[in-house]
This record gives sequence, C-alpha cells and structure tokens, in this order.
Amino acid sequence: MRDGFFHEGQLVAVLTAQPLDRFLDYKAPEGGVMAGAFVEVPLGPRKVRGVVWGPGKGDFDINKVRSVIRVIDVAPMREEMQLFLEKVAAYTLTPMNAMLRLATRAPGLGDPPSMRKVYRLGDQVPDRLTDARQKVLAVLEEYGGLSFTLKELSEMAGVGSSVVKGLVKLGAVAEVDAPRDTPYPRLDPDYGAKDLTADQQTVATQLCEGITAGTYGTTLLKGVTGSGKTEVYLEAVAECLRQGRQALVLLPEIALTGEFLTRVEARFGMKPAEWHSGVTMTERRRCWKMVGQGAAQLIVGARSALYLPYQSLGLIVVDEEHDTSYKQEDGVLYNARDMAVLRASLNDARVILASATPSLESWANVEAGKYERLTLDARFGPAVLPKMSAIDMRAEDVPGGKWVSPSLRSALQDRLDKQEQSLIFLNRRGYAPITLCRACGHQIGCDDCDARMVEHRFLKRLMCHQCGETKPMPTVCPHCEAEDRLSAVGPGVERMGEEVQELFPEARVAVLSSDLYGSARAMKAHIEEIAQGGCDIVIGTQLVAKGHNFPNLTLVGVIDADLGLQGSDLRAAERTFQLMRQVAGRAGRAEKPGEALLQTYQPEHAVIRAILAGDEEAFWSAEAAERKQAGVPPYGRMAGIVLSSPDMQEVFDLGADMARRDGPLRQIGAQVYGPAPAPIARIRGRHRVRLLVKAEKSAPLQKALSQWVGQFRLSNTLRLSIDIDPQSFY
Ligand code: ADP
Ligand code: ZN
Repeated sequence: MRDGFFHEGQLVAVLTAQPLDRFLDYKAPEGGVMAGAFVEVPLGPRKVRGVVWGPGKGDFDINKVRSVIRVIDVAPMREEMQLFLEKVAAYTLTPMNAMLRLATRAPGLGDPPSMRKVYRLGDQVPDRLTDARQKVLAVLEEYGGLSFTLKELSEMAGVGSSVVKGLVKLGAVAEVDAPRDTPYPRLDPDYGAKDLTADQQTVATQLCEGITAGTYGTTLLKGVTGSGKTEVYLEAVAECLRQGRQALVLLPEIALTGEFLTRVEARFGMKPAEWHSGVTMTERRRCWKMVGQGAAQLIVGARSALYLPYQSLGLIVVDEEHDTSYKQEDGVLYNARDMAVLRASLNDARVILASATPSLESWANVEAGKYERLTLDARFGPAVLPKMSAIDMRAEDVPGGKWVSPSLRSALQDRLDKQEQSLIFLNRRGYAPITLCRACGHQIGCDDCDARMVEHRFLKRLMCHQCGETKPMPTVCPHCEAEDRLSAVGPGVERMGEEVQELFPEARVAVLSSDLYGSARAMKAHIEEIAQGGCDIVIGTQLVAKGHNFPNLTLVGVIDADLGLQGSDLRAAERTFQLMRQVAGRAGRAEKPGEALLQTYQPEHAVIRAILAGDEEAFWSAEAAERKQAGVPPYGRMAGIVLSSPDMQEVFDLGADMARRDGPLRQIGAQVYGPAPAPIARIRGRHRVRLLVKAEKSAPLQKALSQWVGQFRLSNTLRLSIDIDPQSFY
C-alpha cells in the first residue's frame, strides 16, 4: 500500500534525486510522516532531500537503518504524481531519481519560507501631508487591504521610495514582514469573455461539457491559424476554473510571449502563473509551491510545467501540439504531448490538443477513436486563407549565387508599392551552409563533430550547429593553404538578407534568426516590433512560422520548399507539410488577403501538390497508408539507441555485440537495425553509433529493451541513450 501514514520508527522507502538507481530505507521520524512527504535524510556524511515513496522494503539490517532527519514544510507529493513519475520512467526507461529531479526543478524548496517587507495602510492618520505623501496614501486606500513591495508602491504612486519610508516613520504606512511566496491573484472566469461565432460556440460548448463531466478525455482541436482556437480553449479553461480545478496551458517556448499573457489577462482579469526558462528562480519556487497548495489556478508554461505538483488538475491544453519542441531532446527523453495525455488520464482531467496542422500521431488517434476531434474551419473575421502557388524554378532565370526568382521578385515589388509587408522564408541559419575552397574542394568542418561549419557573417565566425563551437573565418584554406580561395556556397538567411537588400535598396529589410539575439526576450521584442510594421521585408527561419501575428503581412515567399523533403527522416513529408502551411498562414491575418509562393524544383512532388491543394485529409491518409505499410510510428513502435564514446572501436564493438545478442528483442518479434554510424557520426569529439529497434505496436517494447541492454556492461567512457518514439534522427 502506498498511501497512509508511518508512525515513528516504521520503515519508509525514500526516493532521492541522487544518482542511485534505488530507493533507500529510513525510519520515520518523531511525530511520524505521511507518504509523499518531502524529507531530509542522512546519506553517508551528507544530508539530502527526498520523498517518502511508501513502506520500506526492510531488506537492510534494521540496526543500521537511520532516521529521517526532518519533514520539509511543503505540500506532500500526491499519489497520482508518484504514479505519473513511475509511468513516465517506465515508458522512457528513465531512472526514478532523474524523474524526481524533473519534478522538483525549483530552488530552495526545503528552505524555510523567505520573508520580505511589504507596505500597507497604517493606523495613524497624519494631519498635514505633502502632495507626494497623499499620493501614496491614495494608492493604499484605493486598493484597501492589499500590501505592496516598496518598489510597487512608490511606482504606483509615482514618488520616490523615501516618501514611503517617511510615512512609515509617521505610522501612516505600516511596514510588515510577509512570506515572499504569495498566492497568485484569483482569476475571474467571467471577466472578459468574447462573443463567439456560432461555430466557435458549438466547439466551446462541447469542450466545456467535457470539463463538467469530470472524466478523462482528449480532444484534437483543429483549426486554421486565426480561426479562434485560443479563444475557444480559453472558454474551456474558464469552465475548469469554475469547477475549482487547475488548468495548464502548454506552449512551445518560443510562443510564450508577453502577447499571450496579456491575452490571458484580458480574458481573466489577472495574469496567470508562468513556468518556463525565462522565469526567475524566486518566481519558480513561488510557482512550484503555490501550484502545490492550489493557490495558482492557471499555469502557462513550457513542457516541464507538466511536472508541477498540481493539487487538482482539470485541464491540460497543448497548443501547437505538432510542434517538435515538445519532444525533450536531452536528459529525460519524453514527448510532452504524449505525457500530457498520460498525466490527464491519471487525474480524471481533459486534454485539448490544438493545432492548425496536427501531428500524424494525433490524427491517427482520432481515426482509431481514442481522441475526439473538433474543427474550426473559418478564420475569424474577414481574414481568408492565403492563396498558395508554386514557382517552378526550372523555368526561372536565376543567376548563380542568387536565389530570388524573377516571379518572386515582382511579387515583392508589388507589395512594396502597396506598402504591405512580405516574408521570405528559408529554414537555414547563418550566411552560407558550406564554406568551400575553390582551389582544392575542401569544405571546412568542425574539429569535434562530423559536421560542416556554417558561416555566420553577423558574428564574423564559422559555427558548428551541432556543438555550437565557433572559430574565426580563415583567409587561408586549412587543407591546401591556398590564399583567398574560400567561398560561401548555398544560402542562409543572412545571405538572403544581402540579396534582397541589393534587389530593393530602398526597402527596410530585417533578418530574423535565433542566433542574432543575446536572449529570447530580445528576440521576441524584435519580432514584436517587426510585426507592428518595423520593416518591409522580413527574412526568417522557422522562428517566424510560430505564433506571431503580422497584421500587415500579405506575401510569403518560400525560397526552398524542397529543403525539408531531403534526408531520411520518416517525418520529412509531415514536417514539410506542416511548416509550409504554417508559414503560409502568416500572410493575410488582418483585412488584406494573403498569398504564398513556394519556389520548388519539383512542383509535381506529392507533398508539394498536397500543400498547394490544401487537401489535408488526402495528405494524412496517404501519409498514414505509407507509414502503416512500413510499420513505423504511429502504426509501429520504434526506439533509437545511440552509443557514444571518444573511442571509435569501443562503440562499434559494443554496437555489433548488441546487434548479435538480441534475444530479448527477438522474443517480442522486434528487429534491430545497425549498428551504423549515426547521421552525425561525431559530436563534441564523441563517436556515435546508432541502432534502431522496430516492433509491432502492441509489443512490450520497454521491458524487452531493458532486458536487452541489461546484458551489457558499459565502460566509464561509454554512454548509451535510449529514445522511445524518436522524433529526430541525428
Ligand atoms: P488561433 O488560436 O486559431 O490562431 P485566435 O484565437 O488567436 O486563433 O484568434 C485569432 C484572432 O481573432 C485573435 O486576435 C482573436 O482575439 C480574434 N478572435 C477570434 N475569435 C473572436 C471572437 N469570437 N470575437 C472577437 N475576436 C475574436
Ligand atoms: Zn562541432
């Protein structure tokens, strides 16, 4: 039995975040301890923190078992959370201690509550007051009963902090100590509801009925960009709040903008709690604690917000559910979309997966009857979907080293004449993907990875996109030592910037790429400025495909629509389809209709045709049929195994040995492919070998994988990672 209470001296099993792959037995402390409690325990000479997971195993000499030192004053971990962590661990083959780290990613959880000074109305009423002092008191009176920090109060009153301090001396303002971790302001579900269109209302009503039912269920909410998906799922959030349960909205990190939070505030009167990489440590701790006490009703966050200690979670929205950033690519390899569904099913909660271009996984789950599907077909208001057409590059006359076709050029000119914005899309960072020596043909590569160095003219350096290593641009070929023969081959966004500026010297051209900014905040601010009309032609990577509104944008030109179709990734077609449709969706969001032009050398390619026709159902069915045929996800199961070591021989030997001793896998009918050098065969000086395991959908893959991997002893230099349902192949 897991739940319950342990009296002093009873044995309990404690999970710590230490790298030990087991639970440790301790005796319950004086006063006893609850299952799920966060505790401090002795480990060797140290004190570490952990969670009482359940009764101790008692397989240890009872006389040597030590006692829990103290129980930490935070809400105990709930049973469903324990279960969730166990299930994610089992699914992703992650040790439990790593899961606990993920679930306690807030600093100072065990520290006593930290205090700070706050200010509120005092009990003295002074008779003569300066204007400045009156302003302070006016603020406090207006918000009767509330307390403010010194900074908040002086800013709201528009006076210096010394004015407030002066009032404290008089007793007119009281200075008191208050815990730093304060509850989040209450949200009002009935605050700023919009009038929905009939279609939107139908969808909202169905979503709300799901919430009221109080049972698990997942809905795919599909609708073109701008159709009001956000508006509609906020209604479901409102219903969830009315039921007194907590709601979580997951967004890709890049979409977590002030714009979104302002929108939530406009709907509920107050800002929600935030959880993402830009949140300060103090705020993270506040968020973690308040979520656990039920004092945060709505959390807007990135994927790891899934591991917050919700007290009563009623709804998880996964916005842009197809987004690849939901798959964590280092540490614990999990897909936040899938884990959201698991989390909700353990909590009797609902899931809404929102997207204009759903993943094939979700589409297949709808087909299989596991998810419900609701659709919003029309864009809200006068906005219509952009007209999409191909520019057949075989028929265009483009000079060497240039990429803008005459057709695209005249479309751009047309928009400049009309003072409308255009977007040029190229999913390649930097200036040029290849730096080639014209004398010997050598391509400059990274010293530590099997990858080419990409020229970044803005940074004046070459950069490896695998490991981030940079070096100055050489003037001499490192191979043949010829001077001044190195030249840039192929386009990156920076180079497109140059070309476009040459074509249109008068135009204001802006290049948007993540590496041009010092911080995510600076980048988001610049995107915002551009969206408001700060330039005529935007050149961008997939950054611009996500989330942002460009009200005056009417033309999208895709430089290389074929780019994503190359390569061996099984999702290449799906990704290209989604990306092209999203990029095109940036055009024509306001009153002006938009147009999207795709430069392609293969306009007859099935994927390009499907994109142009906008026939999504046909595309999904064809794609599904192909994957079914090949037995790959979502119709079969896959796991990617990457072995890496500085020693090439070692990885190949182990890889070969693993492929040979595949008994546990063969028993469930699974096959092993490889070992083969990973597509990027060396990263940061480590050689990488890849094995791929394929199994039928119903096969107990994780168990077989554990048994299989368990047969091998790994040296200290060797690393093995298992990626269930791999999304990227590198
Ligand atoms: P999506 O999430 O599908 O991209 P949004 O919910 O962001 O769509 O809606 C697009 C724009 O239209 C937003 O600015 C939104 O506020 C507005 N909008 C959508 N539905 C309504 C409505 N019923 N009333 C007023 N504005 C709406
Ligand atoms: Zn590198």
